[in-house]
Amino acid sequence: MRIRILTLFPEMFEGPFKASIVGRAAERGLVEITVHNVRDYAHDRHRTVDDTPYGGGPGMVMMAQPLFEAVEDLVARELSQAGERPKVILTTPQGRLLDQGMVREFTSHKALIIVCGHYEGVDERFIKSCVDHEVSIGDYVLTGGELPAMVLVDALARLVPGVLGDAASATRESFGPGLDGLLQGPVYTRPAEFRGMKPPDVLFSGDHAKVTEWRRKTAVDRTGQRRPDLLKGWPST
Ligand code: SAM
Repeated sequence: MRIRILTLFPEMFEGPFKASIVGRAAERGLVEITVHNVRDYAHDRHRTVDDTPYGGGPGMVMMAQPLFEAVEDLVARELSQAGERPKVILTTPQGRLLDQGMVREFTSHKALIIVCGHYEGVDERFIKSCVDHEVSIGDYVLTGGELPAMVLVDALARLVPGVLGDAASATRESFGPGLDGLLQGPVYTRPAEFRGMKPPDVLFSGDHAKVTEWRRKTAVDRTGQRRPDLLKGWPST
């Protein structure tokens, strides 16, 4: 999967994409992540990318022209490389709330362009003409779309085949198909006793069927307590 990120602050991506699972996935060529500066598409000497809002009011708005030209350029590059038009995602608090189902949907595309907004947002004409999906990471407002883009890339990368050491991790985790979209139950590791607390006996029984049943039950209980909304319509089959 190829992910191209369009931002005013490319330096923000230097650390997060070099470390951990995403960094290793990129090193192994499983995901290709490139970061592009919107200012490179400005036309004037000052590399202007924003202007005051029509109608007045506070803040600045990202101009349509640099964003249009940047997306056109990145789409053209992708078409010449892979022959398939990438989907364009805009990070915005006004978008559809990101969930694991959406992340899974996005992994069906070979290439994505993620646009990071800033200031008061981006000129609506760019959104109407160039954006396929508007995505929010939660009902709160951040300064820019860079952190949401990182969240999205991290969630996407770990679903790319081969990225996680054990493919089962991505199915048997919270919201995964192995748990029918429920939350995962509690997990434990060594030592067997810590400050007087012990994991449930069933986990030491060696009986796989019983462990599976316990995991299922704790997943349902935990989901009922913390996210009863996820139990609506469950089980699906
Ligand atoms: N004026 C906008 C509004 O009222 O909806 C908020 C703009 S926000 C300060 C600047 C940028 O941060 C947005 O264009 C978007 O790219 C990003 N952003 C902020 N909160 C976000 C969220 N919850 N999810 C995704 N992107 C977000």
